[in-house]
Amino acid sequence: MVSRVIPVDVFDLVIFGGTGDLARRKVLPGLYRRFLAGQMPEGARIIGAARADLDDQGFRDMARAAIGEFAGAAKQDAEAIGQFLDHLHYVAIDATGEGGWDRLAAIVRKDVVQAFYFSVAPSLFGELAERLHHHGIATAQSRIVVEKPFGHDLGTAQALNATLAAHFSEGQIYRIDHYLGKETVQNLMAVRFANMLFEPLWNAQYIDHVQITVAETVGVGGRGAYYDRSGAMRDMMQNHLMQLLCLIAMEPPYKFDPDAVRDEKLKVIRALDPVGPEDIVRGQYRGGAKKDGLGEPSYVEDAANPASLTESYVALKVMVANWRWKGTPFYLRTGKKLRGRTSEIAIVFREPPHSIFGDEEGWRENVLAIRLQPNEGMNLTVMIKEPGPGGMRLTEVPLDMSFADALGEDGADIPDAYERLIMDVIRGNQTLFMRGDEVEAAWAWTDPIIAGWEERGDRPRGYDPGSSGPEDALMLLHRDGRRWREIRE
Ligand code: NAD
Repeated sequence: MVSRVIPVDVFDLVIFGGTGDLARRKVLPGLYRRFLAGQMPEGARIIGAARADLDDQGFRDMARAAIGEFAGAAKQDAEAIGQFLDHLHYVAIDATGEGGWDRLAAIVRKDVVQAFYFSVAPSLFGELAERLHHHGIATAQSRIVVEKPFGHDLGTAQALNATLAAHFSEGQIYRIDHYLGKETVQNLMAVRFANMLFEPLWNAQYIDHVQITVAETVGVGGRGAYYDRSGAMRDMMQNHLMQLLCLIAMEPPYKFDPDAVRDEKLKVIRALDPVGPEDIVRGQYRGGAKKDGLGEPSYVEDAANPASLTESYVALKVMVANWRWKGTPFYLRTGKKLRGRTSEIAIVFREPPHSIFGDEEGWRENVLAIRLQPNEGMNLTVMIKEPGPGGMRLTEVPLDMSFADALGEDGADIPDAYERLIMDVIRGNQTLFMRGDEVEAAWAWTDPIIAGWEERGDRPRGYDPGSSGPEDALMLLHRDGRRWREIRE
């Protein structure tokens, strides 16, 4: 199967923070891969803009090293890298001062697609928007790409939305949630709305419950100081897991159009019931012994804050209060230093109303599991007869589909979320970006939960590194007669 490369118009993409970690690990290697795929038009320019005192050549050298490290071994082609680097330019700039802005104004063209990627600390987002406007660089057609986190709570998100709205219309603002750029996440919509098989069953009558898991094996490491002001609820739940929940729970949009899709997602967020303390468990990883005998730091050591009450894990049960989902809980969990690196959505179906086989032992519920990582794909478990002459005994088998296998050579080359999203920006397609009202609604749901913890002085439960999280989180499902799916190593 050959994937189609849809050409884009000539563009100037300015990456504020072009020398930073995100630019080096994701943005520049992603753009290079799009170049390899034939999607970079002649005359397109990528302009790094950051504090470091570099010239074009210095930025190209940095990008060459980043591509070497992060673009993948199979993509290393010296000639192609050289051609790609010709698209790169650099302006040393100070987001908080006057330095560099006139030069940027002189370089950026007004007659091509203009995009400004804010890959800098969130405290600079508002200032960049203002200066782009003040220096007459942006036009009514420019697009700005805003990284996460978008606000720290509802108040700060509203303030940021207002600052951006003073200079850019909503149609110009691309708020990144890179989970939405993942192939599987988009496939969730294809599976639901392009097949007759699932959608008729997609409701509380047939679905017992839904589990969403985003488990990481790494700790907060070098990001400890930043993370300690945020925590799993703000860093992952309010945005990534919430977006996944929306795609599962939303009504079919009338068409695959940015506002039609985002309207339906917004309705889901607004329909979420508040979550009380009995339906949420927070955790914080303890220290542990590593296999090599060296000690592994605990969360409070990583955060360099012995009194920290910040959670590195959160699990919750939430109900979507509408006709479709009445009675079907959504269980969400995410955490660091867990047993395995797994991101998965599991749709667990109900029992058949009556068993004609009498073999209850072998019976398991049907589960549609959508894997985001590792090995993006889908798995549907179905019951069949156990092979052999032993009578009608039931057994569960997977109908497993790895996208990489199913799509052949091309599938092994599934584009990274960032490269897809950046090209969507250039094309002017906002479907996979969060709208301002969505972000605010998500904070409006999150804020009271966090406020409750703060008021009660709630202490996160400890959990061992390499475990599945705190024991109490198991109880969230056990008390409902259900169990979490295993987090595989
Ligand atoms: P970083 O600290 O590695 O890089 C910051 C960049 O901003 C550098 O290029 C620096 O030169 C530039 N910069 C800093 N102050 C400046 C100023 N006053 N004027 C002009 N440029 C200035 O940060 P990062 O990890 O690349 O993160 C960038 C953004 O992306 C942040 O909003 C972060 O939350 C978000 N993000 C990062 C990651 C990641 O994996 N690194 C993941 C998700 C989101």
